[in-house]
Amino acid sequence: MKLMVSFSRKKVSEPIIARAVMDTGVLINVERARIEPTEGDVLIDVPDESARTVCMKMRELGATVSVLRDAIIRDEDECVDCGACISVCPQEAFSFDSDWKLSLDQPRCVLCGRCIQACPHGALSLQK
Ligand code: SF4
Ligand code: SF4
Repeated sequence: MKLMVSFSRKKVSEPIIARAVMDTGVLINVERARIEPTEGDVLIDVPDESARTVCMKMRELGATVSVLRDAIIRDEDECVDCGACISVCPQEAFSFDSDWKLSLDQPRCVLCGRCIQACPHGALSLQK
């Protein structure tokens, strides 16, 4: 399961991922990170059965956590199955099915946003 962990340096003073791994024993896969001097957002992937434990630990450490399910939303009325999103996705999350209709494998997505920028029909957006 993918979790977006956001924190500010005012509230979180220690390395939050390392602390969560040590305290929970859960192996956390960091898929993307934006770390600024005063704040940060880290996209992590954890086993489904451990997501609740990791969420609780992160919140205890002062972070806010969002569970990401179906993070990329496709407007089927707008999509024309052109395939532009397929070529820009670094995770190969998009593909055509046997009927040449676009298919999206959500768990592969790391929320880089490239497909949203590339879609000529504005059919893709990020879950709020
Ligand atoms: S780029 Fe947009 S219109 Fe083209 S296949 Fe992807 S979602 Fe559909
Ligand atoms: S946001 Fe990035 S990783 Fe996710 S589907 Fe779009 S291009 Fe692929």
